[in-house]
Amino acid sequence: MINFTVGPVQSSGDVRAIGAENVPYFRTSEFSAVMLENEALMQKFAQAPAGSRTVFITGSGTASMEAAVMNVFTPADKVLLVNGGSFGQRFHELCQIHQIPFAEIRLDTGKALTAEHLAPYENQGFTGFLVNIHETSTGVHYDPKLIADFCKRNGLFLVVDAISSFLADEFRMADWGVDVMITGSQKALACPPGISVMVLSPKAVERIEGNSVRSLYFDLKSALKNGERGQTPFTPAVGTLLQIHARLKAIEAAGGVEAETAKIAGLAAFFRSQIADLPLDVCSESMSNAVTPLMTRNCSAHEIFTILKDEYGIWVCPNGGEYKDKIFRVGHIGELTEQDYRQLLDALRDLQKRGILR
Ligand SMILES: *Cc1c(COP(=O)(O)O)cnc(C)c1O
Repeated sequence: MINFTVGPVQSSGDVRAIGAENVPYFRTSEFSAVMLENEALMQKFAQAPAGSRTVFITGSGTASMEAAVMNVFTPADKVLLVNGGSFGQRFHELCQIHQIPFAEIRLDTGKALTAEHLAPYENQGFTGFLVNIHETSTGVHYDPKLIADFCKRNGLFLVVDAISSFLADEFRMADWGVDVMITGSQKALACPPGISVMVLSPKAVERIEGNSVRSLYFDLKSALKNGERGQTPFTPAVGTLLQIHARLKAIEAAGGVEAETAKIAGLAAFFRSQIADLPLDVCSESMSNAVTPLMTRNCSAHEIFTILKDEYGIWVCPNGGEYKDKIFRVGHIGELTEQDYRQLLDALRDLQKRGILR
């Protein structure tokens, strides 16, 4: 199979080789050294401000979304969130569950966030902002500069779910005044699922230290304390953390985050340059390098997904809900080459010839 989904994605041979090894004991100085290096490289690649900290949660991306909401906000906050799809909706539900007062900007599928959307919320007493910078479900990448300026003007604490866009799109945590950046192991980090990562600004660390959280596992105070010596409060997904270490070091050796982002952008540009003759329409006003969302015209998107899987050995990413038969997505993250895209393009052209893609 060739995997063009948005996660889990394909891993490098080095990362896969670690997965074949026994998982080592981890309360050791050797594992602590790995974790401290993971923290330093995450902060470097996120361009985090000096004095930032990183917490590695054993749990999928949603675990860190929930931990963020629980640890940095309280019912005394008033949060503005952007809801442009299923991941924005997840922040909506998390605020409801944890009783964080919020208002939301709802965006139609495929639509970009604009200054007009934000204007009514200027000087309205908001204290925080929650956004999935790349709403992966619809393939819309919001303008980080627009959000950053709005938050700076209004003094908002900014939490960014960059789970599918970290490494795929430029991310300047310090410049943009981002306080919490969240990502996950199975997206552009191209490791197995199981770890999510939160990079925390000094302001975020201060909020966490001052907040009381009604949870044992998700109270980040103990994670921060243990992290000082490269440890975690509970048994983490040790193997996945070793794979993340290998991956971060490989990115660093190959030219750092800029080179990695350029590679992903190159694959996205190549694929997008080759689809003009296919009966598919790009359905996002503002795309991430991580994924190309495509709308079908006269056939079912889910049927295309199924036939590519069953007859061509290719996974693209199906959509759920009301777009199940309208949209599928082609990812550009993970260990992929132009040759892989040629194979996908050949398969799509073959489906067109067979009258299935129309
Ligand atoms: C993948 C993803 C998540 C996390 O999903 P999990 O299944 O919990 O790992 C959250 N937000 C966005 C934008 C994502 O792309």
